[in-house]
Amino acid sequence: MNEGRRNFIIKSALTAGLASVGLPLSGESPKEKTVSVGPNPWLELSEEAYLKNAATISKLAGGKPVMAVLKNNGYGLGDVEVAQILNKSEHIAGMAFVKEKRALAVRKGGVTKPILLMGDFDESLGKELAESEITLSVCSADSFKKIKRLAKQTSKTVNVALYVDTGLGRMGIPYDQAQGLAEKVAATRGLNLAHTFSTLTTPKDYATEQIQKFNELVKTLESKGISVGQKHLAPSYSMLDLPNSFQDMVRPGILVHGSYPLAKMSIAEQFPLFPTYRMKAQVIRIEKLRKGESIGFSRFYKLEKDEWIATLPVGWADGYNSGAEEGAFVLVNDQLYRVVNVNASHTNLLIGDKKTVDIGDTATLIGPDRPEITPEGFGKLVGGHNYLQINYKESLPKLVHEKF
Ligand SMILES: *Cc1c(COP(=O)(O)O)cnc(C)c1O
Repeated sequence: MNEGRRNFIIKSALTAGLASVGLPLSGESPKEKTVSVGPNPWLELSEEAYLKNAATISKLAGGKPVMAVLKNNGYGLGDVEVAQILNKSEHIAGMAFVKEKRALAVRKGGVTKPILLMGDFDESLGKELAESEITLSVCSADSFKKIKRLAKQTSKTVNVALYVDTGLGRMGIPYDQAQGLAEKVAATRGLNLAHTFSTLTTPKDYATEQIQKFNELVKTLESKGISVGQKHLAPSYSMLDLPNSFQDMVRPGILVHGSYPLAKMSIAEQFPLFPTYRMKAQVIRIEKLRKGESIGFSRFYKLEKDEWIATLPVGWADGYNSGAEEGAFVLVNDQLYRVVNVNASHTNLLIGDKKTVDIGDTATLIGPDRPEITPEGFGKLVGGHNYLQINYKESLPKLVHEKF
């Protein structure tokens, strides 16, 4: 490892406060690098994978820029950490969040690209949001009133986004009120309409109607001399399904982290994306259990012969999916081992007749290393979807690598 990279990793580790929990400082030769056996699972992120994915996603969208959705703590992987990486990509036009406090935390984390808040905000944070140059969504009549009051309180131009509900039925201004609110926004001093956006559903016919409705609204507003700003509609699924959904930019979430919204998509061959993270933990116990004994509260796995069983200090309370005990694998020392038990804070692996792992060995629960443990491969094995990482606990330490 060259000095620059080592320093970088150590610096990241210190920044994230990892040194104090005794984690190995890199992914290589865990036995040599392990400082001590730590009771905490952790996440490792690859800058290279994120930056390559950003370029591929833009290519997939015909060269359009990407507004990366990093809601839900960056899909469980650390919104500040992921945003800091994406801030370096020329293909990323901005980043979108749902909670105002997370948008502020990301700005404080040094992210300089445009930030869009797609959800509502607490009025007491309005001034800080405007001063942090966070674009605020007009997503209801009430949010517009707040934004209007804010414009009077600050000398800064407040960037706003018009969030129109064209049929998702979940968020945004009902379609028939959108024109009226857009006119009010345009007529309010101190506001700049920077974006007009909506969210497409998955059924193709319905999404096509949504696009038509959106285009009609834009045409009407433009005919009244209102500049609508940047237009966007497409989450990951629509990007892959409907090329006419691209507009001025695309707005994917899950693709950014290297997973397709559905497990099997043929387009994946033309536009390969890379898993961007590893979830890891160290083996904290390895014991030979006897025939007839069982593991865990539910005694889900009963031993039919004497076998070595390893314990990892990670469980469903950390966000690891409990369905893993139905057939997932974990990689230790280049070998896959079956998961036979997942409790709130522990996971057990069946090692077998021989003791091939040791206390302190690093286990990769999710990562790019084998098809069985990629986010998509894991999702398939546990009968889940490709968004499972969203459940990862915010408290999991994050280690940023230049590359894996
Ligand atoms: C979550 C979300 C997205 C991204 O969805 P993916 O399926 O992860 O691509 C895009 N737009 C809005 C408004 C969202 O809430």
